[in-house]
Amino acid sequence: MPVKLYDTLSRSMRALAPSAPGKEFGMYCCGPTVYGPAHIGNFRTFLLQDVLRRTLEEDGLRVRHVRNITDVDDKTIRRSQEEGKTLAEFTAVWTKKFHDDCAALNMLPPHAEPAAVAHIPLQIAMIEKLVARGNAYVAPDGSVYFKVSSDPDYGKLSHLDRDALRTQATNSAGEVNAADEYARENVADFALWKARKPEDGPNFWNSPWGEGRPGWHIECSAMSTHYLGETFDLHGGGVDLCFPHHENEIAQAECACGRHGTFARHWFHSAHLMVDGAKMSKSLGNLYTLADLEAKGFSPMAVRCALISGHYRSQLNFTLKSLEDARAALEKLEKGARKLAEKAGVPAEKFFADDAVPAEAESASRAAFEPAWLALCDDLNIPGALGKIFSALSDLGKTELTKSDAETQLRALAKMLRALGLKLFSEKKSSDAGNDAVPAEIAEIGEKRWSAKLAKNWSEADRLRDELAARGWKSLDRKDGFTLVRL
Ligand code: AMP
Ligand code: ZN
Repeated sequence: MPVKLYDTLSRSMRALAPSAPGKEFGMYCCGPTVYGPAHIGNFRTFLLQDVLRRTLEEDGLRVRHVRNITDVDDKTIRRSQEEGKTLAEFTAVWTKKFHDDCAALNMLPPHAEPAAVAHIPLQIAMIEKLVARGNAYVAPDGSVYFKVSSDPDYGKLSHLDRDALRTQATNSAGEVNAADEYARENVADFALWKARKPEDGPNFWNSPWGEGRPGWHIECSAMSTHYLGETFDLHGGGVDLCFPHHENEIAQAECACGRHGTFARHWFHSAHLMVDGAKMSKSLGNLYTLADLEAKGFSPMAVRCALISGHYRSQLNFTLKSLEDARAALEKLEKGARKLAEKAGVPAEKFFADDAVPAEAESASRAAFEPAWLALCDDLNIPGALGKIFSALSDLGKTELTKSDAETQLRALAKMLRALGLKLFSEKKSSDAGNDAVPAEIAEIGEKRWSAKLAKNWSEADRLRDELAARGWKSLDRKDGFTLVRL
C-alpha cells in the first residue's frame, strides 16, 4: 500500500516510492537555524516530517533522512557577537538544546545532520559551477549573485507568474537582494556568496572571490545533493520556505548540474502553527517553546500529540486547550490499550515500552486498525487516523476477543502508534527516572493499583496502596499518571 502525498511542484497527489525498487528513499528536510530555542511552530513541521518518515518505514521502505543545521547566517552571527561568544560556541549550545527537545518529543534522529559551517568548500564548489555556467556573476565587492533571468525554470515551485517575473526581472535589472529571506514581490538576483563585512567579525572564509561567507540558500542545495545524490526522493519544510528558499534551492542545484527536473522528486510543505491568526515566529515574539509548556505541566508526549493532530495542509491554531485535549486523548489511548493488553494477557506498559516490537504485516492488515493505517497512507491524514484508532478501540472494547485475536489487534495498534511516534505510558517512566530507581515488583504493584483506580475498583486500589506502603513506597497520583516514591 504506497503512501500518497500532495506534491507542491506538480500540485497533485502522488504515490511515494524510491526511484528504483529496493533503493533507499532519500528525504531531505530543512533544519533549524540555531540562534535560540526552536519554538513549537518549528516542531510542528519537524514532527510532521518525523511521522512521514515513520509511516514510510512502517510501510517497508528504507528511508535515508537528512536534515541540516543552519549555523551561519545573519542571525547566528549577530547573536553570537551580542553574547561575546564565538559562532561555534554559540551555535553548539542551541544545537544541543534542539537535539534534547527532539529526543523528548520522540523524534527519530536523521541519518545525517550536516551543518553549514562544516561544508563551506562544498558550497564554494557549487557556486564555482554556477559562475562557470553563466548562472551567477561576481559583483564589484566580491559577492556572488545568482542571475534569476538565466534560469527559464525559475518560479516553477511557487508557481510564480512567468510574465510578471520577466517584467520584474527586467525592471530590477542590476538590482540584487542580499537578504536571506524576502517576499515574492522582491524577486531579484539573490546572494550565493556574501563578501566580508565589518559586522561579520571573525566569521569569514576564503573563496575564489575573496573573504566572505555563503548565502543561506546554497547550503541546502550543496548538502542535499552531496548526501543524497543529484536527484533524491523528497524535500520538506514549512510552507514559508517554498519561496524563496526552496525555489532558490532548485535553481542552484539544477543550474549547477546543467539539467532541469533533476532535483527533488517530491515537495512536502506543511502549513503553519498559528497563534491568534498570526504565524508563530521568533520575529513576532508570539512563541512557545517545549520548556514553556513543560513548565505549565504538559508532557512532551502531549505536546507531540497536539502538534501532529491537525492535517499538515491546514494551519493549526495553537491553544493551551489543545494541549489539554491532547493529554486527554493520550489517556484515552492508554486506557484502550490497557484493556486490549489485558484481553491479550500481556502487561501493557512492557508491551508498549519497546518501540521496536515487530509488526506482523499480515495480521496488522486483518486488524481493526486497518482504516487508521489507510487514513495515514492517504495524504498523511493524521487526524483521520487518530479518529479511526479511537473508534477501533471503542469497538474492540465491546467485543469478545480470544487471547490471540487480542494480541493481533494489539500489534496492529502498536504499529499505528509507532508510525505516529506516540509512546504510551512514557510519562510515568520519564518521571520515575528522575526519582528513586523503582524495583520491578514495586512498579508492577503501582501499575496494578493505577489500573484498579482507572477501573474505579476502589477497594482493590486501596489494598494495593497498602501493599505499596508495607514495602516502603507510595504513589503520587496526577490526573494523567503517577510517580512512585519512597516513603
Ligand atoms: P527556521 O529555524 O526558522 O529555519 O525554521 C525551521 C523550520 O520550521 C522550517 O521548516 C520552517 O518552515 C518551519 N516553521 C517556522 N515557523 C513555523 C510555524 N509557525 N509553523 C510551522 N512550521 C514553521
Ligand atoms: Zn533548506
